[in-house]
Amino acid sequence: MTSPARLRVAPSPTGDPHVGTAYMSLFNLAFARKTGGQFVLRIEDTDRARYVADSEQQIFDTLRWLELPWDEGPDVGGPYAPYRQSERLDTYRPYVEQLLESGQAYYCWCSSDRLKELREQQQKDKVSQTGYDRLCLGKTREERAAMPGFTENPVVRMLIPDDAPLDFADIIRGKVSAPRPDDQVILKADGFPTYHLAVVVDDHLMGITHVVRGEEWISSTPKHVLLYRMLGLPTPAFAHMPLLRNTDKSKISKRKNPAARLTWFREQGYLPEALRNFLQLLAYPPVEGETEVATFDEFVAGFDWTKVNTVGPIFDLKKLDWLNGHYIRSLSDAELADRIVEHYAYTGEWTPTTDEVELLRRATPLISERLVLLSEALDKLQFLFTPDAGIEIAEDAGKALNDDSPRVLDAAIDALAELADWSTATIETALRAAVVDGLGIKPKFAFGPLRVGITGSRVSPPLFESMELLGRESSLRRLRNFRDTL
Ligand code: GLU
Repeated sequence: MTSPARLRVAPSPTGDPHVGTAYMSLFNLAFARKTGGQFVLRIEDTDRARYVADSEQQIFDTLRWLELPWDEGPDVGGPYAPYRQSERLDTYRPYVEQLLESGQAYYCWCSSDRLKELREQQQKDKVSQTGYDRLCLGKTREERAAMPGFTENPVVRMLIPDDAPLDFADIIRGKVSAPRPDDQVILKADGFPTYHLAVVVDDHLMGITHVVRGEEWISSTPKHVLLYRMLGLPTPAFAHMPLLRNTDKSKISKRKNPAARLTWFREQGYLPEALRNFLQLLAYPPVEGETEVATFDEFVAGFDWTKVNTVGPIFDLKKLDWLNGHYIRSLSDAELADRIVEHYAYTGEWTPTTDEVELLRRATPLISERLVLLSEALDKLQFLFTPDAGIEIAEDAGKALNDDSPRVLDAAIDALAELADWSTATIETALRAAVVDGLGIKPKFAFGPLRVGITGSRVSPPLFESMELLGRESSLRRLRNFRDTL
């Protein structure tokens, strides 16, 4: 049994949260639960240029919606608060001082113009080791100020030693190598630490035992390992999860894929349990044999880093649709109706009255069999929530009609007007007797015009059930309105 592990997810609030944040949270949380440890949410907001104000709230909301709860975080507190890096600026300063005093870091006054020129020159010359040329190393402010490309507010850079280790042990990948870094900025001119310094200091102070993050951070890890060494701190374990990929193997990006945005899944009407289950299967085998459906607890019970496949998993929305359908059908009708109401409350598209919610509950069984996304519910059931006079006949509805349609509607209206008891069964019996048997018209043409009159379209949930839900008055009014247009 592994001792209790402390893991964290450390998103930067730079916009709509990326689906990778949920993916990382899921795996981090699983291992924390498996070992009886803790899962921490830390907000890495030191990049003020990319900061987006409501992004942090979106991170909280989407991870909560997915039921990936954190034990410690900016909103819930914890023994290592604050959990927002912008509130920890005083914490980083002594570490910078320590590195400056021991000569493992130095001030750099190079202006951004000089750095830009340097980069361009290095590209032109195709030099093998690009990066900062150490112009400021060993110089006092006065010495440096006498040279061109000077700015008043210096940054602090770490001095990468010649013997800097360039490989590290990854618990998923084994030995991993990364290119030699140049002298990284650790403290910016605005007094904010860079990601590299803040992540190391915070992971250390917060007692993080396993740093689990995306593959894109592999090249940063030697910088972090070096910082731990320079500061004389113990190094945590590292694991780098594969990047999520599109079906064409390209990397999922928020710019190109709507599905890279975590809120997109909620807007589309996916159930959180379906998305969670889907993420569990990315680069990770099904919990048992071929069974892809599994609870989070089942996932946790068998969790092991060695099962992670390092080949970038394909983000296949068809699989997610399938899982969503599965989870929709495992809900009771009442639960499904509640989820549908919640969905539209979230998107702001529909605010039903109590009566409408009641009607939706009764109508849910008519659509639950085929529903893939919650957002399809209203499309299918809109006719129930539309006033009789507001029913619009779809353009292609003509395909359900022919010369017999007026006769069909007349016979149906007469039969239904006399019906003593209004239920699915009595409606069906009466209509079959009046139209199919009475007029000798095939069911397809007998019921097509009725469906169009009741719902406005050729395709709809089951007709007789729909009429029962609408009630006699409303059904007859719709059929008569439609008859008048023919
Ligand atoms: N702030 C980084 C991010 O936005 C965290 C990377 C890490 O987990 O170290 O992903």
